[in-house]
Amino acid sequence: MDKATLLAHTRDTFWRILRPSMSLQAFLSRRVVTPEGVRPGAVVVEGKRIRDVVAQERVPAGAKVHDFGEMAILPGLVDSHVHINDPGRAEWEGFETATRAAAAGGYTLLVDMPLNCLPGTTTVSALEVKRAAARGRCWVDWMAWGGVVADNQEHIEALAAAGVAGLKCFLVHPGVDGFTMVTEEQLRAALPYVARTGLPLLVHAELPGPIDAATGQLSDCDWTRYQTYLQSRPDEAELCAIELLLSLCREYRFRLHIVHLATAKALSLLHVARNEGLPVSVETCPHYLHLAAETIPDGGTLFKGAPPIRGAENREKLWAGLCEGIIDLVATDHSPCPPEMKRLAEENFRTAWGGIASLSVGLPLMYTEARTRGFGLAEIARWMAESPAKLAGCHTRKGRIAAGYDADFVAFDTDREFVVSKDLLHYRHPVSPYLGEKLRGVVKATYLRGEPVYLDEEFQGDPRGVEHGRD
Ligand SMILES: [Zn+2]
Repeated sequence: MDKATLLAHTRDTFWRILRPSMSLQAFLSRRVVTPEGVRPGAVVVEGKRIRDVVAQERVPAGAKVHDFGEMAILPGLVDSHVHINDPGRAEWEGFETATRAAAAGGYTLLVDMPLNCLPGTTTVSALEVKRAAARGRCWVDWMAWGGVVADNQEHIEALAAAGVAGLKCFLVHPGVDGFTMVTEEQLRAALPYVARTGLPLLVHAELPGPIDAATGQLSDCDWTRYQTYLQSRPDEAELCAIELLLSLCREYRFRLHIVHLATAKALSLLHVARNEGLPVSVETCPHYLHLAAETIPDGGTLFKGAPPIRGAENREKLWAGLCEGIIDLVATDHSPCPPEMKRLAEENFRTAWGGIASLSVGLPLMYTEARTRGFGLAEIARWMAESPAKLAGCHTRKGRIAAGYDADFVAFDTDREFVVSKDLLHYRHPVSPYLGEKLRGVVKATYLRGEPVYLDEEFQGDPRGVEHGRD
């Protein structure tokens, strides 16, 4: 053995012996956001898991200490509604860029929608193609939703067995080819299979009838105006869809999840359904909670999403729905596209792609709005980490700062403000309706299983995210 080899051997042995104690870390903050509340403490991490949350003076000897001071430590956020578009439309987004934006935004787990990618995730073989596309390219962990389309009923239970977090369908045309909507008849054919899986069925709840009727009245209208687009997707489209879904839920007893609720008019229906004991959960998105139709400029197709952003009064009622627990969670519905599909030059709401990308700014958007309405970090952690993890069936490992959970968390500086700029977006095409806005709260660091993936505006190491399994 020569001298260099001996030296390397000795060093390896030294690290092997030392590693158990080296892997003990303590993350200190005056505001650790735990399920029991926000309090000063130290999150003690052993290897990849949280060992305990203790008083700061009880940090175990030998632990490597990271002191975040006044910055809050929240659980790593879980986004249960993301369109990564990979494989097949990776020029729209992609695993690497979406998960990079997620890491910069404080998210440590994304659940990917089954459409926009090609093939759509409607069979186990398509799921395997997606897994191959994701391998080695993710900055944070991910899971997949499986699709329910017009003709894949026989694949639903196999998708569940193969590990999808749950299932997703559309009651209206999803806007892309390769993933079909379902009619009531097709949905009925699928529901016995869905119910048997015990997994949630996420539904885009708008019915085509009211949309077609409204759009028919608007053919001569000016489609560069936001009001025209808003009128083309009336509240009734959501209301009728939700009424239908609740009656199907009563009949088939499947777990129903309404994605991106935009109309507050459905809250009373949903409240009654909850009281009746129906297994229904609801999400809304930062854009519905932050923006309002009254301030969207004509020609501003960056603000187009479906369902549309409605008025300011509606927005305040959505906040009330969150407060009352009728809305369970907030997901981004991050849905990017190549900039030319936003028809920015022609400013046409009719032909522009409907989707808003916001992964990297979801947390500051929510914090900025929540604090002015008297909500704090505990509520944000519940809406953006704990409840989405529960929906995705991974709530014993993700979404909380508690013993036994993955050491996923975000250090969040609530004292700082910043202006949204292109270089802070990090997803593939840095277009956003939020550019130029001043927001409160800066992600200082994001940790995935005990190691930083993003720290002081730099990505750390190589992509280490993996597919996460259901509990
Ligand atoms: Zn979506």
